[in-house]
Parts: sequence; structure tokens; C-alpha cells
Amino acid sequence: MKDTLYLVIPCYNEEEVLHETAKRLIEKINTMIKNNIISDESKILFVNDGSKDKTWSIIKELHSENNIFSGINLSRNRGHQNALLAGLMTAKEFADMTISLDADLQDDVNVIDKFVEQYYQGSDVVYGVRCSRDTDTFFKRTTALAFYKLMSSLGVDMVYNHADYRLMSKRALEGLNKFREVNLFLRGMVPLVGYKYSIVEYERHERFAGESKYPLKKMIAFALDGITSLSIKPIRIITGIGFTIFFISILTLIYSIIINFIGNAVTGWTSLTISIWMLGGIQLLCLGVIGEYIGKIYNETKQRPRFIISDRLIENKIKDV
Ligand code: UDP
Ligand code: MG
Repeated sequence: MKDTLYLVIPCYNEEEVLHETAKRLIEKINTMIKNNIISDESKILFVNDGSKDKTWSIIKELHSENNIFSGINLSRNRGHQNALLAGLMTAKEFADMTISLDADLQDDVNVIDKFVEQYYQGSDVVYGVRCSRDTDTFFKRTTALAFYKLMSSLGVDMVYNHADYRLMSKRALEGLNKFREVNLFLRGMVPLVGYKYSIVEYERHERFAGESKYPLKKMIAFALDGITSLSIKPIRIITGIGFTIFFISILTLIYSIIINFIGNAVTGWTSLTISIWMLGGIQLLCLGVIGEYIGKIYNETKQRPRFIISDRLIENKIKDV
């Protein structure tokens, strides 16, 4: 008896791509079931992340045609990471392994076999890694590279060029479930779960229809979230800045006293103005960074639910752990 695979696909306003995505995924899954690579209870699980268009009715329609398509409907839009987590946590009840991918099929579906092969060879997590970024704009490519570099310099363990296309075994999902944080940055959290992992390379395509749901503003917010959720180094850097400024201030003090004794105390207005503005600026910046962390703590202590599921369309046996 082969293991059960669930493909988990978060969808936000994806009516333009869903039919095509469904068609390509079912072909893939059916071939794999036929070749006895995965069990015939494997499914395609769509997560509707509070879409404003016909996404949920398309999912319902797909489910009524063939119950290999299943779905959950979130009570409102919670963002990609929360939607993905909702899907993974639902799938873990039924599946032995899950693969998360985007609704726009930018992630190459043909490497799913390789993911599963790695799983059978003992990997609990398989990361899909983009082998090139040719389809990206120059801007996205350079900012992405800078981001990965920054993250690793801040001590965050992240797989280079890996987004959220990954396979996770049931026990890796159980591990992920133990992370109770509400500020989600899954690609930084999964490495913390541990277990044996492997990497599969793939080409990332262009989105075949519809628009990106990640405009620049959301992307920057996501990157900042990633940093502050996984590293406290920025606060340490602030402490470093504090020490340096303190040291400089001692030097200035000595300098001022000497000047005073020499009797040449007409020190300039320039140095005074510069220090006021600079120190004020640095202080505000530091307060902002610290505030960012306090905001995070505030959100974490509230322990709000990370998602609320309003409807479920799944018919399957619950698997024992
Ligand atoms: N998505 C989501 N909720 C959101 C935004 C996006 O579930 O609030 C989904 C979206 O439907 C897609 C995936 O997240 O399946 C990635 O989004 P997109 O392809 O727009 O991002 P990009 O590939 O441009 O970074
Ligand atoms: Mg996309």
C-alpha cells in the first residue's frame, strides 16, 4: 500500500487560473496513482483564502465533479502563509505527505515525482529550489538575492532560492504544528522543525493567467516580517550602535574639556546641529526597530487563531499518527 499525498494550494482570487490548474494537477495525480507511486486516496486540496471572485464556487464545482478535488474555505482573507498553514494542518489529518504549491502553477508540476521519490528514500522535507531566476525582473532578482544574503547574515537558516514549493511528511507537519507563533514565515520555520531533508531543483515559469497577489508593498512587509519573526539580531545591532555612540561621546567630552581649558571654546554651531539631528534620527530608528518587536510580542501574546475554517469539502478517512 502506497502513501497518501495531498497537494495543498492556497488560492486568493484565482478564478482565471483554477480550471487549468485543476486539469494539470489531476492529470499528474492520476498518473501517479496509476503507476502505484501514491495511494488512490491522494487528493488535491484547495484553500480558498477569502477570495472576492468565483474561486470558492469553482472549487465546489470541481469537488462535485470529482472528489479527488477537495477544499477548505477560510472565513476571510488571511494571507498566503496563513492560508497555506490552514491547508497543511487540515491535510495532515489525512495524508502521509503534503506538497504545497501556488495556484498559478509557476512551480513546475513535473518535479512532483522527484519530491515523492526523495520522500520514499527517507526525506521528511523536500525543498523545491529554483535553478534560475530568468523569468524574474532584474529588480526582483537583485532584491531577492539581497534578502537571502541579509537573512543568512542575521543567522536565519533558510534554503537559498526556495519559496513555498515543498514536500513535508506527516511527522514534519506534526513538528510544524508545535510552533504556535502567529507571525508566520514558513520558509524560515520549516528548517527549524529539523528531520532529514533534501533539495530538488526546478524551473519557475511565468504566471500563466491573472495577476500576482504579491505587490511590492506586500513583498517588503513579508520580508520585514521574516526578519523580525526569526532573528533578534537587529536589536543587538542597536545595542552595538549604542555602545559606539557612547564611546564617541566620551571622546567628545574629553575633547570639549581640553578645548575649554585651552580657552578656545567657540566651538561651532555645525557640530552641534549635526549631533542633534543625527542622534535624534538614530534614536528614532532604534525605537522603531524595538517597537517592531514589541508589536510582534503583542500579537503573539494575544494568541489569536491563525485561521478559521468556515467550510470543508473533504471525504477521506482520518489517518492515525
Ligand atoms: N495567495 C493567498 N492569499 C493571499 C495572497 C496570495 O492565498 O492573500 C496565494 C495565491 O493565490 C497564490 C499564492 O498565494 O496561489 C502565491 O501568490 P502569487 O502567485 O500571486 O505570488 P507571486 O508568485 O507573484 O509571488
Ligand atoms: Mg505566483
